[in-house]
Amino acid sequence: PIYFDNHATTQVDPRVVEAMLPTFTQAYGNPSSVGHLFGEESKRLVESSQQSIATAIGASATEIVFTSGATESNNLALSGVLSQRRRRGNHVVTVTTEHKAVLDPLEQREQQGFEITRLSPRQAGDDLAGMLDADQLRQAIRSDTALVSVMFANNEIGVIHPIAEIGQICKEQGVLLHCDATQAVGKIPVDVERLGVDLMSFSAHKMYGPKGIGGLFVRKSGPRVRLQPAIFGGGQQRGMRSGTLNVPGIVGLAEAVRLSLAEMNEESQRLAQLRDQLWLGLNERITGLQLNGPQLEAAEARLAGNLNFAVDRVDGEALMMNVREIAVSSGSACTSANPQTSHVLQAIGLSEDLTRSSLRFGIGRFNTTEEVDFAVDVVATAVDKLRKLIA
Ligand code: PMP
Repeated sequence: PIYFDNHATTQVDPRVVEAMLPTFTQAYGNPSSVGHLFGEESKRLVESSQQSIATAIGASATEIVFTSGATESNNLALSGVLSQRRRRGNHVVTVTTEHKAVLDPLEQREQQGFEITRLSPRQAGDDLAGMLDADQLRQAIRSDTALVSVMFANNEIGVIHPIAEIGQICKEQGVLLHCDATQAVGKIPVDVERLGVDLMSFSAHKMYGPKGIGGLFVRKSGPRVRLQPAIFGGGQQRGMRSGTLNVPGIVGLAEAVRLSLAEMNEESQRLAQLRDQLWLGLNERITGLQLNGPQLEAAEARLAGNLNFAVDRVDGEALMMNVREIAVSSGSACTSANPQTSHVLQAIGLSEDLTRSSLRFGIGRFNTTEEVDFAVDVVATAVDKLRKLIA
């Protein structure tokens, strides 16, 4: 099968593997063991990786906390802020289309007495479906709002929210902004200064790095973000996240970020071409396709490699069973420890049927035009077959 599920996770780039290898068998010291050369070497690797990751997102090295991935980063950011005594109140603003790794920790807090406002983005049919309007956010902020959490790019429909504008509003109102940038870092330019985010989550395995390593940017300057750690122990990372550092992961993350940044411009153009080829090809052979998310022409509003669409008059489950020669996702594979229909597609107003018969493509670094032609054929053949069955 051909892999098209790059929003769920990515193949590790062989160049990333190459960079990581020495940390397994040579530079394997504990970076906290500064009494000997092994530890010192690892510590140096961690520090240079941290510096290069920080530079890539416009941060400074001490503003990066390493975690096990974006789920942990989101939890640390949200719980870390909300566990502290806050100047303002217990109100949080987020969006209905956030990842579960934001929605679920907030739901936990809601049960403890926090008030959560979940804003609804633009609905299906709108040219910018899925996008949150900055004005809507402005109106939702109250004098007791402690925190705003809005993702940068959505993992299902690829919509890119106006984070810089949202950051400006939060700054004016004196509210902390957390941004889940898991699908953005490595794909589109991300600069924490320009965006005005106070906390920002990211993860290596979405950008051709290894699984199990990610980071949280925690702003130092200005209204210092006070964060309660979630994991206590040896006091690593200035107590923010105890535990022996994942040196192979950290080195891999740094190399993944470096490569993605170096190749970003060319790569996003290439991905957009493949995406257009896929969408045109599908529409030549299949009638009644409905694009989910922003129009493809709105290049600034949508991740280049994302295509998500509903196929009417087919059963969603049957469709998935008949496209097994390609790896795509229906809804979000990230949350399918318990497969449910996509809360994102439902939140932009799709019917349950269309939600079920939607396919998500995440086109990635290793996909080719030949593979896209193949995918068109696989999907078109499956839809033909299924529609004939019900005709
Ligand atoms: N946030 C978003 C937007 C994601 O796409 C994902 C992965 N599906 C996560 C968070 C969770 O990331 P991780 O797998 O690194 O925990």
